[in-house]
Amino acid sequence: MTVARILMLSSWLLSVGFAMLALHTAEPTLVQTSHARTTYSGAVGSRIKKAPSKQPVRPETARDHFETGTGAPDPEKLLSQKVFVSYPLKGSVRKRAKQVSFIVLHSTETEKPADAKRIIRSWNNRGKNHPGTQYVVDRDGIIYQTANPRLVTIHVNIHRTRFGVDNHNSVGIETVRSGSQKYTEPQLRSLSRLTVYLRNYFGLTDKQIVTHGYIQPSTRTDPVNFDLNGFRRRCRSISQPHTNIAIDSPRGAQNTDS
Ligand SMILES: [Zn+2]
Repeated sequence: MTVARILMLSSWLLSVGFAMLALHTAEPTLVQTSHARTTYSGAVGSRIKKAPSKQPVRPETARDHFETGTGAPDPEKLLSQKVFVSYPLKGSVRKRAKQVSFIVLHSTETEKPADAKRIIRSWNNRGKNHPGTQYVVDRDGIIYQTANPRLVTIHVNIHRTRFGVDNHNSVGIETVRSGSQKYTEPQLRSLSRLTVYLRNYFGLTDKQIVTHGYIQPSTRTDPVNFDLNGFRRRCRSISQPHTNIAIDSPRGAQNTDS
């Protein structure tokens, strides 16, 4: 082999080496971003690995739990996540002497249409022992919390109730309605979620969800013009395991509630 041939061969080997090196750098390379997430870069046309597919979303926040009827987050958490809006009762809120055994559904039945805040203010203007429920569901679906549901408010007449329901063993939910007004879709949505949430929070069964008209029939018929079967279906669709909301139909139509 001549010197010239050796030189030619070695330069050819060198060029092959460079070509292989170039190919190697064109392979996809792993890049760590500042978020420590794995991304892939590479030359155009090179194979890019797919990022792993996302897991189905599981309830994580208190709001998620409220929306899906799972878990039982603290009411304070739900206030901080704006699921509830605080609009406190002044006075007439007491320490609870009994365990919560009932959720009582009401409708406000004001003489003229009113919103939740106005109704709560009117309660607050009625002296020391004024009426009020822990929750008021407004026409737009906003849920006002007037007192922590672990505390007692006055929403049933203990001299007229049956089945042992009183204010110390129950939590009340008012839904805002008047005259010929229909319950709104956002209202029914919020009411069903709130009811399922309170049932879970206090560890109750569906049979412990009652209407004011059912437990105080001598003087009350609310919630008035309320579609109980539709309400049961809504509650069921939020949480499947509980299928039997056993509340009796309130009778009659006229009602002035408080
Ligand atoms: Zn009532």
